[in-house]
Amino acid sequence: MQFLILSDLHANWPALKAVIDDTAGQYEAIVCCGDVVGYNPQPGRVLEWVRACCNAVIRGNHDKVVAGIDDIEWFNEVAQTAARWTMDVLSEDQLAYLRSLQQGPASIDGFQIWHGSPVDEDEYLTAPGEAARCFSEMHGPLGFFGHTHLQGGFFAKHGYVGILPQVRFSEREYVLELEPDVTYMVNPGSVGQPRDRDPRAAYVLFDSSRKLVTFRRVPYSVAETVADIQAAGLPDMLGLRLLAGF
Ligand code: ZN
Repeated sequence: MQFLILSDLHANWPALKAVIDDTAGQYEAIVCCGDVVGYNPQPGRVLEWVRACCNAVIRGNHDKVVAGIDDIEWFNEVAQTAARWTMDVLSEDQLAYLRSLQQGPASIDGFQIWHGSPVDEDEYLTAPGEAARCFSEMHGPLGFFGHTHLQGGFFAKHGYVGILPQVRFSEREYVLELEPDVTYMVNPGSVGQPRDRDPRAAYVLFDSSRKLVTFRRVPYSVAETVADIQAAGLPDMLGLRLLAGF
């Protein structure tokens, strides 16, 4: 079975649209590792697409704050401004959808998904040392996660924990063949706000029968989202970080 794995869409419709166009006909199910909204100015459009199209969705920290089930004071000023703006523009029905999203980890078809780590949905897994503590908490050899907005992830092989390769700036994709006896935590990267210095939208295609994970990047009109950020009166920093990919 072919899965499209998405995370951290963050209300960036032009980025999500580029991913949808780039993957047409290439998957049978869509899985979302959280953070549908926050930061960017098209939360309603992105949320409705997720609600209509994704087969499995778990909540992210921005979804929780906008839904009113976590404290906004944990966010920095820019994230708070965007979260308050998002609460104002979403309908009561859309906010109720965010409130209904389940906490990870969730088990899908032979793999797990979570937002931060398998033990704490709000924990950032950025380094092998942090990931190493979590491999024993996984159910099965494969999990997909987000939260850091960094495409790649980690693997554990006979006690050694390493970093998975990333797509090069000059390339479109990187294909990882999953090996037996290796455990993987795969981060598809962020659709709507990449932070690995590559502004292209990030996602993963997972072929569960052939055991292939394809990391992809697709360019989109960042300028369109930046213009929408300005039109919405959201902080300029949100556009600048999209342009630079941080
Ligand atoms: Zn996020």
